[in-house]
This record gives sequence, C-alpha cells and structure tokens, in this order.
Amino acid sequence: MKINKIAVLGGGSAGLIAALTLKKQLPDLPVEVVYSADFGVIGVGEGTTAAFPRHFFEYLKLNPGDFYREAEPTWKLGIHFKWGPHPQGFYYSFQNEYKTRWPELSRNTGFYCTPETEWVGMVSACMAKAKAFPRKPDGSMHFHKFHAFHIENRKLVAYLEKQCSLLGVTFLEGKVSLAERGPGGVAALVLESGQRVIADLYVDASGFRSELLGRAMQEEYLSFENSLFCDRAVIAGWPRSNEPILPYTVAETMEAGWCWQIEHENWINRGYVYSSRFITDEAALIEFRQKNPKIANEPRVVKFNSGRYRRHWVGNVVGVGNSVGFVEPLEATALQVICLESSTLADTLKDSLLEPTPSLVDLYNNYNSRQWDDIRDFLAVHYAFNTRLDTPFWKACRADTDLQGAAKLVRFYQENGPSLVGEGVLFAPTNSFGLEGYLALLVGQGVAHEKPWTASMEEQRIWRERLRNFGEHAARGFPMKEALALIRGSDFDFLVGKSTN
Ligand SMILES: Cc1cc2nc3c(=O)[nH]c(=O)nc-3n(C[C@H](O)[C@H](O)[C@H](O)COP(=O)(O)OP(=O)(O)OC[C@H]3O[C@@H](n4cnc5c(N)ncnc54)[C@H](O)[C@@H]3O)c2cc1C
Repeated sequence: MKINKIAVLGGGSAGLIAALTLKKQLPDLPVEVVYSADFGVIGVGEGTTAAFPRHFFEYLKLNPGDFYREAEPTWKLGIHFKWGPHPQGFYYSFQNEYKTRWPELSRNTGFYCTPETEWVGMVSACMAKAKAFPRKPDGSMHFHKFHAFHIENRKLVAYLEKQCSLLGVTFLEGKVSLAERGPGGVAALVLESGQRVIADLYVDASGFRSELLGRAMQEEYLSFENSLFCDRAVIAGWPRSNEPILPYTVAETMEAGWCWQIEHENWINRGYVYSSRFITDEAALIEFRQKNPKIANEPRVVKFNSGRYRRHWVGNVVGVGNSVGFVEPLEATALQVICLESSTLADTLKDSLLEPTPSLVDLYNNYNSRQWDDIRDFLAVHYAFNTRLDTPFWKACRADTDLQGAAKLVRFYQENGPSLVGEGVLFAPTNSFGLEGYLALLVGQGVAHEKPWTASMEEQRIWRERLRNFGEHAARGFPMKEALALIRGSDFDFLVGKSTN
C-alpha cells in the first residue's frame, strides 16, 4: 500500500526526531505529530553518543549553528567510568584508542595498558585534563568529530519542535483514547475530543505507554531482566557554581547500581540507577543524597523495564524510542537508537518509493532489534566484571549476569587478551560499540586473560613518553567555557572547524 501520510503519536524526543527525519528526507510526505500536553514527555535523556551529531549534521544536514544556539549543548568526549579495581577508573572515549597500533610499537594499545594507565589517546587525555578540544600549534582549536553532547531535555525538545515546524510538520494536541484497528493494523487514532486522525503509517512514539505497538497491536515483549537488573532511577541536580564543566559523563559505582553525572553549562545533573530487588527507594535516596550533598531540587524517581518488543514494525505501525525498547542510560544510547530507527525508516520509505516491501520490513525489524540486543550485551559486560564493590547487588551481577551475545566476545578476550585478530569475524559491522568498546570495558575493568605479556623496556619507555606527550598536549587544550565562547562567535565555521577571520 502506498504511504501518503504519516501520523506520529508522541511529542517527546523520539516522536520529534522521527518526524524531523521523515520530513527532511521525504519533504512531500505529510507528517502529523499527535501529542498530549497532559501526559507530557519523560523529560530525561541528556547524554548522547557520537551518532547524534552524525545524524543531525551529516545525515540530515541541519545547520550546526542553529543547534548550538538553540539547544545550548556542551561537548561530551566519552564516559569516565569510576568502575573496576583501579581507584581512578578509566576513560572510554569516542575515538578508537585501545585498538590503535602506534608505528613504533609492536602491538596495539590495549596490550600496553597497566592498572596505572590513566589515558590511552588524545581524546581520553583531554578528558583526564578536563579540556574540550586540543590546541593546534598555531593556538587555534582542534575541533574534531570524536564528540557527542550533553543537552538539557527541554532545550532539545524546543529545538526539535522548532525545526519540525520550519520543515512543515504539523502538530495536533490531544489525548488518544483509542487506536481503532483495521485490516492493515491501525485504522485511526481517536482523540478524547472525538476527532479521528487517519494515516497510512503510524509511528508509535508514545513512550513507555506503547499505545500502538504494545497496546493496540499486542506485540510480544522480550525482557532483558536476566542481563540488566536495574529498574529505577532517582534524579536530581544543582546549579553550577565554580565547578569546571567536565567534557564527559561520569558513571560511578554505587551500592546497588551506578550514578551518572551529566554536565550542563549551568546545571549539574545526577541520577542513581538502581535495582529495586536490592535497595528500597528510601535507602537509594539516602545514599544518593550522601554522595551529592549539593542537590538543590526535589529528587524524582523514574521506574522502567529493560527490554524490547519482538518486532518494531508490525502492520502499519512502527515503534520508535521508549515505546519499542528501553535500557538504562549506562552508555546513553537511547537517542542514538532513535536516530537509527528514524533514519532506517526514512531510507526504507525512500527506497521502496513509499510502498515498503515485506523484505524491507523484515530487514528493518532485524536491523533495529539487533541494535537493542547489541546494547544489552555490551551493558551486561559492564555489570559482569565490575569488581569495585562487594555489595549483594554487585556480587549478584558478577555471578548471574547473562552475557547473551557478548559471551563469545568475552571468551575470545579471556583466551587471547586485547587482540585485534578476528575483529571482522567477531563483530557485525552494525555493532555500534565494536571491538574498541569491548576493549575499553574489558581492559579498563582489568579482566584477566590467558596471554599476559610484558613489553620490552624500550617499548615501555616509548609508551610512557607517548602518554606523557598526550597529557602535556591535552593540558594546553581549550577548557569547555573557552571552547563554547569560540563556537558562539559569529564567524565560527563548523565545516572547517575554526573561526574564519
Ligand atoms: C532515568 C532515565 C535516564 C535517561 N538518560 C538518557 C540519556 O542520558 N541519554 C539518552 O539517549 N537517553 C536517555 N534516556 C532515554 C530517553 O529519555 C528517551 O529514550 C527519550 O527521551 C525518548 O523518549 P520518548 O520520546 O520515547 O518518550 P516520552 O518522552 O515519554 O514521550 C512520549 C510522548 O507520547 C505522548 N503520548 C503518550 N501517550 C499518548 C496518548 N495516549 N495520546 C497522546 N499522546 C500520548 C506523550 O504526551 C509524549 O509526548 C533516559 C531514560 C531514563 C528513564
């Protein structure tokens, strides 16, 4: 059936990114967003991965200047894990670092790391030195693409709403009380007012309510609870005073889970993700407050389930965002998945000339389900090997986490160490973490392997000198405030990566 109109149910990040992507890629196709002001949006989701700028500025070709002006992000170069046996933890950046092989050394970086290694490349050195970007020899800023963002949710939503409107997406406010079924799936959205919204394809972006995919189409739900034990988060923050704006998210081990720290320009956001099987809400709140005495707003608890629906696309309904799947934000992947779901949907519609074939729909389901499963597997590795605390929660994680698809990758590492051999066979090209991600987590957590190796004295000298150079170079870099001031200047060219005068 030819698709002549799309209705998107939901005006959160998922609905808006889907609508924006569809309208930008298929400008002649009418796209209408139906949302309820009463239900509101979940209002969290403030860290991204590097897939986010790629989606917005390379795939959609949106103007970065508008984005920086309106969404006011800060840069995130990666995650600082206060995790594993080493007190300083480790940095996982958006650049390939553990995988790289320096010309003067015989093996890849992962083999040279010791428990004392703080950074392993230029980007992680910048993280350790709290610098947003390095400085070039001429003093200008080395603006690179190995970054993601921290963005306040309300600013992101406002930016997305504006971009959608400019492109011609229409909005209808109202609560959908019924999804009328028809032979192809959903026949109409019926609002409380009695108004009916009819489209050929319905994007379900209704968040955890999953009004269309879950409720109307009754698609089967697959839980991730055997791999991911957390099911709640308590969130609060405080206004920034004299703290430097860190260019990374912190993920810090807690008694029954972990705590994020997200860096906005004027606000520091903390959230304790925990398992209600191991700690009560009250006890989690006490631990959270003890760790964060500066908290200035009322903490709020968000409950969630980890898992996904079996298929994303069922009949004429396609789920995007929390309505189709959810995992905790340990790698801040939700917005990345939304971007991928949206771009694969737009590409599928484009390539099928708006008449999606069964093989394309199957492919869509397969690809997007894999994204969720890859994230579950990668997060499982974060839990199964974190030896920092010996609380009942962490003991259970180490004993019982089901590694699922990560099991064979971990086995390979345990037998061979941080070897690059086999990367192409072990990892599907669609795996967004790949060998680099696994090496960062396995080396960073000090996971033992059967091929310990000691570099020669000469190689160790070269390695230490290289790291020292990275550190010194990073220390001269641009702190966040200086970098923000530079890109806010009217003459900053994002394509060239510098001021043009
Ligand atoms: C604790 C926590 C921390 C997170 N941190 C991150 C992070 O750091 N990075 C990241 O990428 N993601 C993160 N996420 C996930 C992220 O917040 C979401 O994936 C993202 O905001 C998308 O949400 P959504 O649009 O799917 O749902 P929502 O924001 O809940 O939007 C749902 C929309 O559907 C509408 N709606 C629902 N039912 C109806 C109805 N019957 N009629 C009309 N309208 C309806 C609502 O009004 C709303 O507009 C986090 C999530 C949680 C829970």
